[in-house]
Amino acid sequence: MTIALLPDRVFDSIAGEMVSDQVIIIDNGHVSAVKTPSQAPDAVRLEGKTVLPGLIDVHTHLATAPDNGQGYARLVQRSGAQDALIGVKHAGETLRAGFTTVRDIGPWRAFADVALRDAIDAGWVEGPRMSCAGAFVTCPGGGGDITGLAVDVDDVLPKELRFGVASGADQMRSTVRQILRYGADFIKVLATGAVLTSGTKPGAPEMTEDELRALVETAEESGTYVAAHAHGTDGIKRAVRAGVRSIEHGSLLDDEAIDLMAERGTHLVADLYDSIYIEEVGPKLGYSDEVMTKTEMTAEAQRQGFRKAVERGVRVAFGTDAGVIPHGINARQFSLYVENGLTPAQAIQSATRWAAELMGWEDSVGALAPGAHADLIVIDGDPLTEVGLLERPSGVMKGGSWVVDPLTH
Ligand SMILES: [Zn+2]
Repeated sequence: MTIALLPDRVFDSIAGEMVSDQVIIIDNGHVSAVKTPSQAPDAVRLEGKTVLPGLIDVHTHLATAPDNGQGYARLVQRSGAQDALIGVKHAGETLRAGFTTVRDIGPWRAFADVALRDAIDAGWVEGPRMSCAGAFVTCPGGGGDITGLAVDVDDVLPKELRFGVASGADQMRSTVRQILRYGADFIKVLATGAVLTSGTKPGAPEMTEDELRALVETAEESGTYVAAHAHGTDGIKRAVRAGVRSIEHGSLLDDEAIDLMAERGTHLVADLYDSIYIEEVGPKLGYSDEVMTKTEMTAEAQRQGFRKAVERGVRVAFGTDAGVIPHGINARQFSLYVENGLTPAQAIQSATRWAAELMGWEDSVGALAPGAHADLIVIDGDPLTEVGLLERPSGVMKGGSWVVDPLTH
């Protein structure tokens, strides 16, 4: 079945520019051509509208109940089945907001994300294409562990809540192999402490360079890569030197860290909207004083580091940490990327082409190019003049089928 769409504008995410007078031809769920309208007289006219590639968020947590300030209690109050099923709700919200692909950077309960991904791919539930981390690789008591429990409770947690807890290079290697064996697409490591994990310090490194190297080598042997959560400067540098493909958060970057990332082509995935959201609603939701203090400590520094990294030419990929912010409002982050140094076109590239490159999925998503999945969004008006328009897509197509139909919306 063939569909032809003729909007006012099409965003070319490879060149980073808007083009007009182009019709998009879709065959069997894939883009077959983007060409002049005279060659396709029966196109559906989308007057006043812009078509862009479906958006990509490279840092989501779909298969985890939202943290509304209950801290880790919520993790043991819910079953794995409940986590997977709330993931179904989050996946639908994400897709309808125009995000047709996500890189899901870990559930607290290992492999709930993999179950969700497989259900979406099988067509059982509606959601974005997912690339999954499966579990968090973290040191005992680290940013991806369940911390703050009494000693006699600590011992009896189910294995899936601590699947990726490891220390020493040998354990890193076997943990990577196990995580990939159960269906993960890439490896997520916590190289420093975390803002939301009680008792851990975002600035403190939690992995040696040797451990990080073992992770990267083992992932690469299996044809994949490592993404590193890292707030503190030392942890960021260790991870970049060890060869991780992306730094998540990157809150405390210094010039040396930025230079290293620029030289090595490491992507920066900065969740700039996250801290603003936590500052706004955290106290109402009952976040602890510890979390609020750590958020304040990292927020402005993260924005400054982002601006410097953009100036230095570090490649940015759009990641929101959705799960901390509610799913479906991911696009609110575009205006922050623009306020902090990216042009509107670059901000959109960070959520399309550059995100796809980080994932190694650039042949199938992130651009409206022949052979790619027909994943696209329709925006009323021109998002290059008002990037906030991306928060309200009037059409969403995944694999050639409308999820939100722009003609009836
Ligand atoms: Zn996260």
